[in-house]
Amino acid sequence: MKLALVWVPLSILAAPLPKVDPPAGKRFLVIQPHHDDHTTDYGMGGLIARLTRMGYEGWFIRASNDEKDGAHGYPHNDMINLRESEAASRILGMKGVYSFNWRNDYMDPTPLLELRAQVILLIRKHRPDIVLGHDPWGHYDRNPDHRKVARACADAVWMAGLRNVHPEHFELGLEPWRVPHQFLKARVDYGRGHEANAAVELSEADVQRKMKAYSAHRNVYASPAMAKSVRAQLAAKGLKAPELDGMTDEQAAVRIEEWHMDWVSRQRGQENGVRYAEIYWYINEFAHLPGLESYIQKNAVKR
Ligand SMILES: [Zn+2]
Repeated sequence: MKLALVWVPLSILAAPLPKVDPPAGKRFLVIQPHHDDHTTDYGMGGLIARLTRMGYEGWFIRASNDEKDGAHGYPHNDMINLRESEAASRILGMKGVYSFNWRNDYMDPTPLLELRAQVILLIRKHRPDIVLGHDPWGHYDRNPDHRKVARACADAVWMAGLRNVHPEHFELGLEPWRVPHQFLKARVDYGRGHEANAAVELSEADVQRKMKAYSAHRNVYASPAMAKSVRAQLAAKGLKAPELDGMTDEQAAVRIEEWHMDWVSRQRGQENGVRYAEIYWYINEFAHLPGLESYIQKNAVKR
């Protein structure tokens, strides 16, 4: 049998996504498993920078202890990664980091009920207008912590608004809280990638902060060996990148990572008709009532 291979570039298929402006509000929570999940190339850092620029107060929740991320022993990796996560959060203008410290990559036996209760408690404490996290409905994410925390977060966002769920929280003076908006991301290089429904435009300053926050994670990114290898490969072709002249391999590695972050922000922007962007699965609290938006667009009048 003769096989016909048809290669279709994705860029031809992808239509620009609708642009969503973050709503005005006061507080947001970023709920993620790992120290660096708020600063990945495939989303969050730019939107976080935009939200704090708008005056939002933001908090980062790290659900795992990141003990396996980095070249050191478990406790040492945990401590370095938490410190770098706090530094990255400060660069993005956030207030601070909560760490649940569940065991990194071994979260499958973590009781979902307990993880969910922790998230519900913090949602009720901070009463966020926006929650940012991984998309639990993504096609596939090979990282078990991403799947576990995404599920707990999605459940918690709904359940935090129910008075019969964890009524013991009300003894602390808390009240049920319904989260109006969610921006969810997923890796684009696993499985079938990520189906996004919205693009968020970023300013140049947002992208600069996203780049700086990303490279704050020195324990896992910006390896000097990578910079050495890039230089060796260029040299083998008789080339060099003048911008890296005079830099140590450590400095060059940070710069190279920043090129990538700048590129990916431009790329998402170009695909969606703006200079810089990130893409998300966006849902608001009325997503289950699509007829409502259509009715309001047609019938709402100024008071
Ligand atoms: Zn992660």
